[in-house]
Amino acid sequence: MTDWPEKVWHTRGYPHIWLPYTQMKTTPAPLAAAATQGSRITLADGRELIDGVASWWTALHGYNHPHIVEAIERQARIMPHVMLGGLLHEQAATLAARLAAILPGGLTRVFFSDSGSVAVEVAMKMAVQYWLNQNIRGRTKFLAFKGGYHGDTMATMAVCDPEEGMHTMFAGILPEHHVIDLPRDEESIAAFDQFLERQAGELAAILVEPLVQGAGGMVFHDEHTLRRLRAAADKYDLLLIFDEIFTGFGRTGAMFACEAAGVAPDIMTLGKGLSGGTLPLAATVATQKVFDAFWSDDPLHALMHGPTYMGNALACAAANASLDLFERENRLLQAADIGKFLGEHLGQCLGLPHVVDVRSRGAVGVVELDRVENLNDLKRRFVEEGVWVRPFRNIVYLTPALTISEEELEKLTSAIVKVLGK
Ligand code: PMP
Repeated sequence: MTDWPEKVWHTRGYPHIWLPYTQMKTTPAPLAAAATQGSRITLADGRELIDGVASWWTALHGYNHPHIVEAIERQARIMPHVMLGGLLHEQAATLAARLAAILPGGLTRVFFSDSGSVAVEVAMKMAVQYWLNQNIRGRTKFLAFKGGYHGDTMATMAVCDPEEGMHTMFAGILPEHHVIDLPRDEESIAAFDQFLERQAGELAAILVEPLVQGAGGMVFHDEHTLRRLRAAADKYDLLLIFDEIFTGFGRTGAMFACEAAGVAPDIMTLGKGLSGGTLPLAATVATQKVFDAFWSDDPLHALMHGPTYMGNALACAAANASLDLFERENRLLQAADIGKFLGEHLGQCLGLPHVVDVRSRGAVGVVELDRVENLNDLKRRFVEEGVWVRPFRNIVYLTPALTISEEELEKLTSAIVKVLGK
């Protein structure tokens, strides 16, 4: 495949690109991606990589799934986009109703947006205004947890783990919330209880990524912890927000992670896999109880938020097609099978130099190292092995498409064993 005009567009365009999470001076230029299919990325020079990341865990059904592609094409001809202010269209209405039907715990009101960070901002704004609309003042803080990650915008940076590095330099200019240890052992449970006893009155909500704290380090916690958070929110009359942007849509083995714990939040955020890895789409979904606090004759009680592209018809069509696939094909079984495979095969990393932990939950596999000396070098070695694995900090992880084949998974896990073994 030498006829890709890669050199031209890459050379011309790269000097004008500002990449995410990248020190542009010291990081090698990005690879030129030419095409995708299933769990494969074809590079412009003809090389093919097996994808272990599913583009930041969005492409649940693999890339270019024909059912999703057709839905987008059909919708593009009918109506690519129309503003949601004063107009509603079939794809957004259908998607909202379908989400309401499959979400647990009476989460029935869907506010669409275009990125996960915005969905979390909207959840935070909803939570604060929920109290204000009821004339309850002073409930403006959030309780979030160490290891958590909820986005890169100013409001969401303030509820990420403050130590974890990405946002530390903004300390002092961000609003101050409370970020404490998840209550999962005797000591942290006591600290959590004490904190709430003293300060629950200033909280609008508790915010957590259920079961897997993803971008903050792929750290797992269990169902008991989630039930404890729900019980605490009930006891102190706080809203509970589950950020399922990473965990939603089968990633942890259940359609939504919180279902495994049998608890539901008052507000849930969704994104990433919502559109099956095709178009930017996110949602903040509230219970009737939350929605009722905004239902009023007072115009000031309305939720004054409205991203321009909210409920984009192409993205909603893709999301509806993605939900069709969940109905037609057993993605949750595939997630469970991936989990079993990852558990067995990544286990071979235990005992390799620098490996301190290996864990998996649903279609998430993690090899934690004590340190990585040269992350760029590690990434390059994975590419040399023909796989797309993107470690961050000291974490090597797999979040493949739920449709990945066993042979492809095998290539991914053996590449990890081989590269880390060197
Ligand atoms: N919350 C969680 C749990 C996430 O994993 C992410 C993205 N990694 C976000 C929020 C932010 O989403 P986005 O990148 O779409 O703004």
